[in-house]
Order: sequence, then structure tokens, then C-alpha cells
Amino acid sequence: MENRVNETLYDVIIIGGGPAGLTASIYTSRAGIDTLLLESASLPSQAALTETIENYPGFPNGIEGYKLIEDFKKQSKIFGTEFVPEEAESIQENKEGPEEGYNVITKEGTVYKALSVIIATGAVPKQLGVKGEKEFYGRGVSYCATCDAHFYKNKHIMVVGGGDAAVEEALFLTKFGSKVTVIHRRQRLRAAKILRERVSANKKIEIIWNSQVVELLGDKKIRAAKIKNVKTQEETEIQCDGVFVFIGYKPNTDFLKGFINLNEKGHIVTGENMQIEKVGIFACGDCRSKMMFQVITACGDGATAAFSCQKYVEKLKGMVYD
Ligand code: NAP
Repeated sequence: MENRVNETLYDVIIIGGGPAGLTASIYTSRAGIDTLLLESASLPSQAALTETIENYPGFPNGIEGYKLIEDFKKQSKIFGTEFVPEEAESIQENKEGPEEGYNVITKEGTVYKALSVIIATGAVPKQLGVKGEKEFYGRGVSYCATCDAHFYKNKHIMVVGGGDAAVEEALFLTKFGSKVTVIHRRQRLRAAKILRERVSANKKIEIIWNSQVVELLGDKKIRAAKIKNVKTQEETEIQCDGVFVFIGYKPNTDFLKGFINLNEKGHIVTGENMQIEKVGIFACGDCRSKMMFQVITACGDGATAAFSCQKYVEKLKGMVYD
């Protein structure tokens, strides 16, 4: 299929509509930088899929993830960001060189042109990689409690993982399931103390320690999970109706391989101003290498990337202010 070329030359194309990308777009468009934001419908931001975000300042009672994201988007549109529901497939240097800008080619077959690019593609859930996981995806296996919890009313739900996401989602799933069994590969949860305390106090949650899921069993739907104790090597089958996997995330950067440098985990390495090794390209949020993966840090990254981008674009255009 021949790509369609959109002849508009934007100042910046932001790839990704999560907290980092949307914050960047609020800042760039408010600063008068012509901004196009590509948001993929098939890769919703993790924040939008979070039932309640409790630690974003300004919302003492917490806020639904999708609502926060919708409000970010509303704010960005007020300042003039143009949104396109397309997914970036590759970035190419403009033939005349990077100072002339970049082309972003989408899976939908459009070529968009801009002087600079902000990559804010976030991360996607990691998979267990066990037998049955792919086969039962959508028929018992899920990576999103907000999306699928209602299918498991009064059912036995299994959650795999021991970090903030697994524990937070296990607590949320107790509102639906008759019982929630958490399978964790160690003897101690990685999740924050406040979440560990809530889990201990929740009578619907049982934790099976030092255990890994090795296979998912069933016919049309999941019937049970085969669990292996990593200390004794003993295997048991546990009947369950659904298995929610929260074992971390991997950066959504595969499409950038060969174009920019990625570290061993696939994260983009940036300087403190969010610039990367290619001039005019910036990265922010969960796709970049950093210590803390939170909505608030993604927003901070987004604001910094936007400011760096603004300075870059203004300099290119000869608009130098003191
Ligand atoms: P995470 O912190 O990396 O935790 C992943 C968990 O899954 C760990 O307990 C890990 O075990 C386990 N795990 C990893 N690979 C596994 C495998 N192959 N099989 C079985 N278990 C496996 O990931 P996360 O919980 O998704 O959180 C990601 C980031 O988002 C973190 O920075 C987190 O703080 C943040 N987050 C924050 C909030 C919040 O603040 N409310 C909510 C959600 C997420 P080990 O413990 O043995 O390594």
C-alpha cells in the first residue's frame, strides 16, 4: 500500500497519548509550537486503564485513570494540539538531514512531517510466557482489571505478581470476585507498605508465596492454573475462573530499534532535559530509562521534554529570546 503524505510541516509530533505525551502537548501547544499528537487506540495508556489513581496530587479522594487522561486531553485541545488516532510504525530522518526534521510513518499508512519528535510511547504489560497464556487471552487471561473485572463477579480470581500493580489490582478485584488468590514468586511483596497492609487486612485475598504459574489449563475457558513452588519444586493445580497477570511492563519501543539507541531493557536513554542522541528528538515517560514509573514523573518528564523541544524549534526558526 502506498503511504499518504500529509504535507503539513508540524513543529513537533508527539507519539503517545498517556500522561507524558499529553503533558508535553499541553506545554508545547500553549507555547505556540504547532503540535500533532499520535495516539494509538490499540495501545491505551496504563494510567487510563487504572481504576483509581490515589497518589496524583490534587485529588484527595483519588481519581479514575480514564477521567484524568480525558481531562489532560481536554486541556491539550484547548491550547490547539491536533490529535490523530494513528500508531507510529517508524521514524525517518528527513532526506535533507535532521535539522530539516523527521518523518513519522504510521501503521495506518500516513507520513507526517515535523521539525522535532517527542517519543512518549509508554510501556506494555509483560507476559508470563507459559503454556495456555496466549490461548486463553480474553477467555480467562487478562492484563487489565479495569477492563475485565466485571466478567468475574463471584468467581475465583488469580492474580500473578507482587508489585504495586498486582497488589492494587488484587484489592480492586475483591470488589468482584468471591476470592482473589495472589501468586508471588518470592516470600515478600515488592508493593508499597500501604498496599501490603491493605492486602493483609483483606479477608478475600490469599497469597501463595514462593510460587510461579507454569501452565494455564482449561477447555473453552480457563479452569485452573498449574503452580510450582520454587523452593520445593512441588506442582499443584488450583481451580480458578480468571488469571490477571501484573508482572511489570516493557517499554513500547520495538519500532525504534535500529533508529535510536535503546538500553538492554529496551528503554530510551535520555539526558536530564529528555534529549536523546539524535538532535530534535526527545523522550519522556515510561519508555525512557529512569528510577520511578509514576503518572506524576511521566508528567514531569513531559513538561521537560516539551520545554527542550520548544527551545530547539525556536532556535531552528531563528526565534532567540533572552
Ligand atoms: P514491578 O514493580 O516491576 O513488579 C513486578 C512484580 O512481578 C514483582 O513482584 C516481580 O517479582 C513479579 N514478576 C516479574 N516477572 C515475573 C515473572 N516472570 N513471573 C512471576 N512474577 C514476576 O511492576 P509493576 O507492579 O507493574 O509496577 C511497575 C511500576 O509502576 C513500578 O515502578 C510501580 O511502582 C509503578 N506503579 C505504581 C503504582 C502506584 O503508585 N499506585 C501502581 C502501579 C504501578 P519480584 O518482586 O520477585 O521481582
